[in-house]
This record gives sequence, C-alpha cells and structure tokens, in this order.
Amino acid sequence: VENKKQELNSIIKGILPLIATNAMEQDIELKVNLAEGLPHLLLNEKEIKQLLLNLARNGIEAMDHHGTLCIESIIEGDMVSLSVADCGCGICKENQEKIFDPFFTTKESGTGLGLSVCAGIVRRHNGTIEVESEEGKGTRFIITFNALDAR
Ligand code: ADP
Ligand code: MG
Repeated sequence: VENKKQELNSIIKGILPLIATNAMEQDIELKVNLAEGLPHLLLNEKEIKQLLLNLARNGIEAMDHHGTLCIESIIEGDMVSLSVADCGCGICKENQEKIFDPFFTTKESGTGLGLSVCAGIVRRHNGTIEVESEEGKGTRFIITFNALDAR
C-alpha cells in the first residue's frame, strides 16, 4: 500500500505551488493557515494532493475572478481537519445532496467527477467530508481524519 504515516501539512505544502498558480491565474487571493504540531496520519500522498487540488479548483471556479480561497489545517483533540473555503457562488440545499454523485455538474464543461473522487479518497482514509454552503456567500468543505487510526 501507498499509505504512510506523515504530517498532513507537508502534503498540503507539496501541492500549494500548483494551487497558488491556479489561483493567481484567476485573480484569486490564497490564504493558508496551517496548525502546528499536527499528529501524523496514515495518508496516501497522491490521493490527498488530488483531494486538495479538486477542492481548491472548485473553490477558484466558484469565485469568478475575485475573492479569497482559504486553506487550513485544524487540530481538535485526536481529530485533524483540512478545510477549503471560498467566498463564491455557494451551493443551494437541493444541490448539496447531489454534489458527491459521479457526473453531477452545474458547469457547462464540467465532468462532475471531482467531488465523487474526493468522496472515494476520504472513504479510503476512514475520514469524513462535510460541506457548509450559503448561496451567494460561499462554501466550505471540511475533511476530518482520526489520528488514532495511525497509531
Ligand atoms: P465539476 O467541477 O466538474 O462540475 P465536481 O464533482 O468537482 O464537478 O463538482 C460538482 C458540482 O458541485 C459543481 O458542478 C458545482 O455545482 C458544485 N460545487 C462543487 N464545489 C463547489 C464550490 N466550492 N462552490 C460552489 N459549487 C461547488
Ligand atoms: Mg470540480
């Protein structure tokens, strides 16, 4: 297996240059706030990079050339979370039920596969993925892992 005990922050840092480039190209400001002293998690580096890239690209696409994308790592007891927030168009309640379905897209040339891939990655890591969204205000995805799984 490719899962290895490692710090979430180092994987985030590994994919940040690409996200920063994507953000800059769309005139989006990028804010990053990484918690210190995170416990190591059992993570597949390629998958976590894909997860973050998919969420970041969706956030950037939701903002239409102005706004801030905020990427954070958070620790709460044994739980470590990755948060990706935008101040974009938001997702209506009805669509929030469907966004993780393969091929669900509201974009003219979307594949609708990004979030279903994310859901699979989170499932394989025994984590959870939550969405908080308000139409016209923005969206936040929160992925949570249990550090005890890596002991
Ligand atoms: P795609 O990006 O190809 O449409 P995804 O699976 O990545 O496919 O996303 C599915 C749908 O979820 C998008 O078409 C969009 O309607 C909605 N969505 C996902 N992320 C966001 C976001 N950050 N803000 C607003 N809508 C989003
Ligand atoms: Mg997408």
